[in-house]
Amino acid sequence: MAKTADTKTTAASRKPAKGTRTAAETEKIKAALAARLDELRTEYDQTLSEITELQRERLTDSAGDDQADTGTKTLEREQEISLVNGILERISQVERALERLDEGSYGWCERCGNPIPVERLAAFPSATLCVTCKQLEERR
Ligand SMILES: [Zn+2]
Repeated sequence: MAKTADTKTTAASRKPAKGTRTAAETEKIKAALAARLDELRTEYDQTLSEITELQRERLTDSAGDDQADTGTKTLEREQEISLVNGILERISQVERALERLDEGSYGWCERCGNPIPVERLAAFPSATLCVTCKQLEERR
């Protein structure tokens, strides 16, 4: 019986385990998310002041409104509220993403477990699938 050398696994252990990112990558994602958060907050402030302005205009020329005018204004008001809520929703998505990033549970494809590219996360902070899985999902 030939003595088989003890199979020491040296080369294989060099590969980073699935589910790890380098600190540099994590920092990059963090920076991208933080930048997105800033953008969204600016957008929120702008939208809010625009709405306040519109609201003021509506109030000042509401004299002599008929029912239809009032209806239109209510609709406009609702649209503005949903616009603001949409921004707030995106803000909280990014905030949640930052929290999960700290826990190490952010940025992994929910389907295949591969890391989602930093660029994709920067563009879509709420992305939960990698591009490949996303495409598969859309094709169904
Ligand atoms: Zn995937």
